[in-house]
Amino acid sequence: MTKTISRQGERRLKGTPVCRGIAIGKPFLFSISETLTPETGVPVSDVEAEIARYRRALENSRLDIERLRKQMEHEHVSEGSAILEAHLQILEDPVITTDIEKYIETGKNAEIAFLKVISAFQQHFESMRDPFFRERFKDIQDVARRVIGHLRHTVRISLAEAPPGSIVFANELSASEAAEADPKNVSAFVTEVGGLATHAAIIAKAKGIPYIARVSFTGLTFTEETTVIVDGRTGEVIISPYADTLAIYAHVQRQLSLHVAKLEHTATALAETYDGLPICLCANVEAVEEIPLLHQYGAYGVGLLRSENVFFFKDTFPSENEQYFYYRAFVERMNGLPIVIRTFDIGGDKCFMGRIEGSDEPFFVGCRAIQFFLQEKTIFKKQLRAILRAATAGDVSVLFPMVSSLSELREAKALLQEARRELHKENIPCPEKILVGCMIEVPSAAVIADLLANECDFLSIGTNDLVHYSLAADRFHQTTSSLMALCHPSLLRLIKMVVVESNLRGIPVSVCGEIASDPRFTPLLLGLGVHRLSVACRYIPLVKNAIRCISAVESVELARQALSLSTASEVQQLLEKSYRDAVPDDCFYNF
Ligand code: PEP
Ligand code: MG
Repeated sequence: MTKTISRQGERRLKGTPVCRGIAIGKPFLFSISETLTPETGVPVSDVEAEIARYRRALENSRLDIERLRKQMEHEHVSEGSAILEAHLQILEDPVITTDIEKYIETGKNAEIAFLKVISAFQQHFESMRDPFFRERFKDIQDVARRVIGHLRHTVRISLAEAPPGSIVFANELSASEAAEADPKNVSAFVTEVGGLATHAAIIAKAKGIPYIARVSFTGLTFTEETTVIVDGRTGEVIISPYADTLAIYAHVQRQLSLHVAKLEHTATALAETYDGLPICLCANVEAVEEIPLLHQYGAYGVGLLRSENVFFFKDTFPSENEQYFYYRAFVERMNGLPIVIRTFDIGGDKCFMGRIEGSDEPFFVGCRAIQFFLQEKTIFKKQLRAILRAATAGDVSVLFPMVSSLSELREAKALLQEARRELHKENIPCPEKILVGCMIEVPSAAVIADLLANECDFLSIGTNDLVHYSLAADRFHQTTSSLMALCHPSLLRLIKMVVVESNLRGIPVSVCGEIASDPRFTPLLLGLGVHRLSVACRYIPLVKNAIRCISAVESVELARQALSLSTASEVQQLLEKSYRDAVPDDCFYNF
């Protein structure tokens, strides 16, 4: 998984680069990992003091939660207050009090005793068949982070608490945890699991936070004073660097900023190849705060708004009005530029646990996206109504995710019609016509791209899931190089196939998966006939530069060569070499 190379004094760890950039800062442990919690052992004479230390941590945690609960009550956030009430009860559970003290009496330090009991708890919860109870373990983890935070002063419980210059070390990051990070304070993420196409990675990219995944934390120890360097280009994490290493990285960091500043000047330049082929360069946006950046970089519009982001930080299902205001805020800020709103895609690492408005039943999404929402038509129609209402404020298209058959597309379109008819009847304004797109992200959809293209206005290829489902390469727990999966000949052929079918039917096709944000793939995608790209907003200058550095003719030749190769590693070598030749000064990728 990872390699460790040591030079006396400084320690180098290697992982998978997920989000490029250099960060120099101090560790912020956002984790309850045993690997980051050394077993120190406690002599019999110190057991009593250790138990007292543990009790103090519990008491401080209780005071924290009590304070937060009062604050929530004051702000009338009743769900938040109820959750914190449950956290207080967890702290009083005999497992947390008596059992752990018994463990400490056997000579274990409080952190290890606590983690051992919590992981036994975790196994118990994970073995439960009811997903509701499995999800409830998250509350226990939340409490556990708080207690560990009080036991070890470097371990924190919320990324919102990260001080400036924090290099966040975590076992795993969820999308909502990453969303909580303020890029002014969080300089980088380092995780033990994860990969290029996780939703946490997508958020890190949107925020411009360097990120390395799949780093082994075994045996790592830090103090709050330890300096850490993260090289998001090579995947290297350097702990306690030598002065000369620090100086080198400070220099590289300046070079990268200069390169970004230089590219930002291309904002007004056209996204076209140097022989004049115009490319429709759109942005994937995760938050409304990104829209000014999109205007600054001269994007054509938003190619993908992941509407499920409305769930972040929420424990209740959003009402139609809540969604309407959420979407409308994006649409209004577009100043007339087009925006594609994708309907909810929940599942995988984007789980939502909460309650549906007006229902006492807990809501759990067991299957993903359109497949779930076609079963839950009332919820789906609420979303479609909210999108249609927001569409009166600008140029909005709707995109259905995870479509695997023509009947699903037809059913979703029929519901959209029904939502429109309802709004008309209620005299609520909505547009007469709205463009409807279909994501191509499961292999069955790629294979029937001709049928789907016949019945929608545009296609959008989601390579993150297409790779996941066609190569059986788990996007959430990557075990192989993510770059290699993206270079697989089957992916190239699938993209080509979808492009041919959309061209035959005269409808636009875009690529909105993470592959589109990597400038090394830009010439290949253009050569495969993809003339619409939707990329992480911050990557627009890099991708626009890549487009402007090649000719359409060269890109077609490159795609022809790539399609003739038999293995992913040959394709990878070809793409890396051709990018180095075409854009030698891109110090993010060529170094
Ligand atoms: C994709 O699968 O490529 C995609 C863009 O969708 P998401 O990453 O939100 O699953
Ligand atoms: Mg997807």
